[in-house]
Amino acid sequence: MSTVLVLAGRGDAPVRRPVLQLLTLARRLGEPAAVVFGEPRPDLLVALGGHGAGTVHAVAVPEGHPPAAATPALVDLIRRTAPVAVLAGADPTDRELAARLAVRLDSGVITDAVDVRAGTDGPVATRSVFAGAMLVDGVVRRGTPIVTVRPNAVTAEPAPTTPVVERVEPATADPVPVARVVSRTARQVGDRPDLTEAAVVVAGGRGVGSAEGFALIERVAAVFGAAVGASRAATDLNWWPHELQIGQTGKTVAPQLYLAAGISGAIQHRAGMQGSRVVVAINKDPKAPIFRTADFGVVGDLHTVLPALASEIERL
Ligand code: FAD
Repeated sequence: MSTVLVLAGRGDAPVRRPVLQLLTLARRLGEPAAVVFGEPRPDLLVALGGHGAGTVHAVAVPEGHPPAAATPALVDLIRRTAPVAVLAGADPTDRELAARLAVRLDSGVITDAVDVRAGTDGPVATRSVFAGAMLVDGVVRRGTPIVTVRPNAVTAEPAPTTPVVERVEPATADPVPVARVVSRTARQVGDRPDLTEAAVVVAGGRGVGSAEGFALIERVAAVFGAAVGASRAATDLNWWPHELQIGQTGKTVAPQLYLAAGISGAIQHRAGMQGSRVVVAINKDPKAPIFRTADFGVVGDLHTVLPALASEIERL
């Protein structure tokens, strides 16, 4: 059976949920093998092995260099192992690597897939386009298909195995990288989970009324262990950080549950959240477009509905 390479990020960091989802998708195409940058820590190995990675390729990345510096070593690895596909996540590093690999391998890249399956002409990747109005199936017709996949495209399913670690040295032909990492700062708002990886997202819009009003959104998020996002109206008003804006010009999220409070549901906002499994909308206008996307709608003032919702769930 052919291998499927999954880019699993840094070896010195805990596993990210999307990586486990990629391993689950990879099993539909062949035998998953993970690639990490640097030496994998024990808990990472356990998580990768627990989701079917029979091999973990540990690619040496020179200290201070971004993962892109490992592209030549990755290219060598792909040429040597001839995987049926390379699956990557949707974060900026994975996207950059995917593009670099496709260029260096003279193959093709499909970005932002919401599903991947085996087909007669190789892996078929489904993309959601025109703000989710259409689904498009694509195949790469030359070389190794490189596919970046949105978080939460599938539910991660365990498939325990004991991974073999294979160390991959930097390629001898490595050019001196043009970029160097000077410092790393993790920006997090409170202790909320990452917006693009969270299973539950609570988002507020102009209807929240003020920056202080977002304390209520955070309270509800805390009850669910959710990430907090916002519409562009709310971020433009500086009620919530711009990097947590959801939509066409913000982040794309696809959680199990998306709770939209005081958001009208403009097409540019829906473009970033309509991959969500269940959408609950709270809006005082019964004609708000968000109700056309929502699975459940509450017509009412969020300042009344959200505290009642939080109290009810806190009691459970
Ligand atoms: P509004 O449209 O003003 O809606 C507020 C809603 O809150 C209303 O439906 C109202 O009924 C409801 N409300 C008010 N008070 C309450 C209350 N007390 N309780 C309950 N409900 C209440 N937008 C994005 O979100 N993300 C993007 O990435 C994005 N990109 C864009 C890119 C371009 C090129 C353009 C042109 C626009 C973009 N927009 C984006 C903006 C988008 O068109 C909308 O203007 C924006 O999404 C509106 O935000 P909103 O729903 O919070 O505000």
